[in-house]
Amino acid sequence: MHTRLPVTIDPFQLASKGERLEGPIAIKTLTRLAPSLRDTTGEIQVTLEFGLDELRQPMVQGSLSGSLTMMCQRCLEPMVQDIDSRFLLGLVKNEYQMNRLSEEYEPLLVTESPIALASIIEDEILLSLPIVATHAPGDCRLVVAATGMDSVEVDTETKPNPFAVLKSLKKT
Ligand SMILES: [Zn+2]
Repeated sequence: MHTRLPVTIDPFQLASKGERLEGPIAIKTLTRLAPSLRDTTGEIQVTLEFGLDELRQPMVQGSLSGSLTMMCQRCLEPMVQDIDSRFLLGLVKNEYQMNRLSEEYEPLLVTESPIALASIIEDEILLSLPIVATHAPGDCRLVVAATGMDSVEVDTETKPNPFAVLKSLKKT
């Protein structure tokens, strides 16, 4: 099925109609992620199910899947970060509604409508990303380099400080 996600949405209207949006979103349109990304090609698969709960609270249940090419904060080489995120948002129009929102929901404050769909996706991806993105220990080039040095016969007193490696990397 080829569905295209709208660029902007009216979340309250979608919730009252019980609409479902599904489709890919281009990573290059998620501009707030750009500083963390090494490569902006590709797509994230998005599913958003809008509706009202039994208390007629407008909500959206969503899932995101795909992968982002980020930069490993240890070795500065590209790394693939899988995105597999599920979320349940309660739609609110102001702080009063936000404070009354049931705890099962993460609030989505909608002060103007329509809103950019990409902004909701960006928020959820940013929340799901690790604070410091690094390769898994076995995959990181820096760990490989440090292991290589350990195998060289050096007496422990002159063994290079691992932070010296970091310093030399930063200069290049
Ligand atoms: Zn790495």
